[in-house]
Amino acid sequence: MDYQKFLDTINQEMNYRDVTGKVASYIPELAKVDPRKFGMHLHCGEQQNYSFGDSEENFSIQSISKVFALAMAMEIMGEDLWDRVHVEPSGDPFNSLTQLEYENGIPRNPFINAGALVISDILVDQLDDPKQELLDLVRKLTDDDSIDFDKEVYKSERSTGYRNIAMVNYMKALGNIKCDVEPIVDFYFHLCSLAMSCKNLSHAFMIFANRGKILATDEEILTPLQTKRINALMQTCGFYDEAGEFSFEVGLPGKSGVGGGIVAIHPSKYSVAVWSPILNKKGNSELGMKALERLTSLTGLSVF
Ligand code: GLU
Repeated sequence: MDYQKFLDTINQEMNYRDVTGKVASYIPELAKVDPRKFGMHLHCGEQQNYSFGDSEENFSIQSISKVFALAMAMEIMGEDLWDRVHVEPSGDPFNSLTQLEYENGIPRNPFINAGALVISDILVDQLDDPKQELLDLVRKLTDDDSIDFDKEVYKSERSTGYRNIAMVNYMKALGNIKCDVEPIVDFYFHLCSLAMSCKNLSHAFMIFANRGKILATDEEILTPLQTKRINALMQTCGFYDEAGEFSFEVGLPGKSGVGGGIVAIHPSKYSVAVWSPILNKKGNSELGMKALERLTSLTGLSVF
């Protein structure tokens, strides 16, 4: 498969001027990004990397990091995790408080904010240094020790994240949060502030396309069952309340973030990441979604 040819076609066809959305601004630091940024990286083996544009530039991966946190919590909690967070698409915005009220403080899934906050509670409760363990995991998956939190994004989110803080308080009142609120939100805002490139992301997510093993070293990070569960959640819940549309148009499991990144995998084939900061109304990268739709159309391959 000549992936570079397909990526070159996508790069030629797509232009940020053709999209109509806006860069995220509810986290002030995110509004500073250059809306023209556009990059893509597809990884399918040690010597098989294909890319274009700003594929090696770090950006704020935001909610994409919730997949790493979920993997860590699954390791700790096993199947008991699903008593604290469910596995259904939410059909509501990612930061909705109303759904929590009528579902008694049990979040619909680990990728909406409430779900990731419960996951953060588990990691803060069970690990001595959850921030360092998160960095260790991501650095190991990418073989890149320079990956770090973006302090400015962290501070920006910390000072404006009232909704997330409200959610933790609310779930604590309903009995689904163990730790104090402060260390949980501190971890959560750090999690969201991870800065990575398309190249890094596609390398890190290759474990989900490779039955839980790091491709380069064959080290098992997740079992095949855990990998199946995470991929199923990415397919059904990875794109806010647009997961159906993403499955329909692209047909791959994946996860997006409000920084404009999307990473998707084709099991046993490849992992691909794309970045364009302009978001559609549902909070997904507008150009990123179009680029991935073109990829699965040009290759004629999706999981369906
Ligand atoms: N840090 C963001 C928030 O909590 C995550 C948003 C996202 O990428 O979905 O609002």
